Amino acid sequence: MRQAEGIVAVATAPGRSGIGVIRFSGAESASLGLIKGMTGISSPQPRHAYFTSVLDMAGKVLDKGIVIWFKAPHSYTGEDVVEFQVHGNPVLLNLIIKNILAFDNSVRLAEPGEFTKRAFLNGRLDLAQAEAVMDFVNASSESALRAANRSLSGGFSKECEQIEEELIELRTQVEAILDFPEEEIDALQEGKINEKIGGISAHLQTVIRTADQGQLLQEGAVVVLVGSPNVGKSSLLNRLSEKDVAIVTEVPGTTRDLLGNAILINGVRVQLVDTAGLRQTDDVVESAGISRTLKQIEKADMVLHLEACNVSQSPSTLELIHEHLPEGTPVLHVVNKIDLLEEPFKSSADRIGISAKFGTGIEDLKRAILKIVGFDGTVQSVYMARRRHLEELRKAQNHVSQAKDILNSSARQLDLVAEELRLAGTAMGRILGEFSSDDLLGKIFSTFCIGK
Ligand code: GDP
Ligand code: ZN
Repeated sequence: MRQAEGIVAVATAPGRSGIGVIRFSGAESASLGLIKGMTGISSPQPRHAYFTSVLDMAGKVLDKGIVIWFKAPHSYTGEDVVEFQVHGNPVLLNLIIKNILAFDNSVRLAEPGEFTKRAFLNGRLDLAQAEAVMDFVNASSESALRAANRSLSGGFSKECEQIEEELIELRTQVEAILDFPEEEIDALQEGKINEKIGGISAHLQTVIRTADQGQLLQEGAVVVLVGSPNVGKSSLLNRLSEKDVAIVTEVPGTTRDLLGNAILINGVRVQLVDTAGLRQTDDVVESAGISRTLKQIEKADMVLHLEACNVSQSPSTLELIHEHLPEGTPVLHVVNKIDLLEEPFKSSADRIGISAKFGTGIEDLKRAILKIVGFDGTVQSVYMARRRHLEELRKAQNHVSQAKDILNSSARQLDLVAEELRLAGTAMGRILGEFSSDDLLGKIFSTFCIGK
């Protein structure tokens, strides 16, 4: 275990609360010194909770609370950790931190995510698990929470490790054949290798599918609502957000601005962007606002185009939006106010009739939205995953299919097959943080909160 400098931070959320937790991580000597200095306890047992006074530098009592010493390596960070549980008053918490810093001047304030970063560097977690820590903290629905928990407990990492091992094993076999250049690869060997490549590819595909769902749970989907005035956009927003309003948290690692109403549809966070007021204009200020909105539309996962059976369209807004939609962005047409119709409305897959006023067709609409943004309710045990993970998984998949193509080409260059398998393996390793740059680590942990 390397002797890192001690770090300290408030681990509980800012503001007042029943309990506030201060966490220290560092060397054993610093931990014991801190406990002695701050509480007077001179030889604590690891993992024992002591109800004690917490003292300032002058020996005066700041508060009474609980102190626990976690001796390395049996701690969150893998270093010695000391936790002070006191009253959740921010003034008190700051005062205690100040006294800790004054008591031991080798201790400094922790950077965001630094406890988890140390846990990663000390091998307590791999990188995908470390990322899941924050996804767990940020999860805004029960499904997201469960998915993050699966990743945090190593479910996702285990799948990735397995694939990495399968790749290494196969590459070793290919290289063994390469070691005897005079021997041609025979049909039997080729068949076996082909079979193994197919197996790895299928395994990758399964993991990509579950990770894809996890990424959607983590990032949510952006749905842009367009339609002329009075078709019922606000009514629909209210109707959709009636039950499950998402707790809006900033999602680390995503570039999307959060705007509009965040709602939950079957646990998937959907960001509904209302384009009210969007119209072609010469006004400079207004057009600045419009171009911002149009930029956001470019990031939309889908457009929900609302009409009403009794309101005629103003085509210019729709034109403006259609112009700015990247190719391939799906558009769902929804007809509102079907309660005004004499005949029942016949919905189809891309044209759904609703009544925002009475709630008719809303469940169909929700299902259609989820289907379009790609949430497939049939995937069991979704893993929480990030864009980064999916990119690496897809890279690995590409290298595996390259390997297959090379093997099945007439030249059959086994050295190239081995190289593709190696590249696929390193992509898997990058998910787990086996070869990650300081840059990447900095980027990941800087999105954490302080004290985590
Ligand atoms: P927006 O301008 O597109 O946001 O439309 P609003 O939500 O403000 O609705 C405009 C008018 O249509 C209001 O008087 C609503 O009460 C009415 N409205 C909205 N949805 C329905 C519906 O499903 N049926 C009927 N009959 N009226 C509706
Ligand atoms: Zn349209």
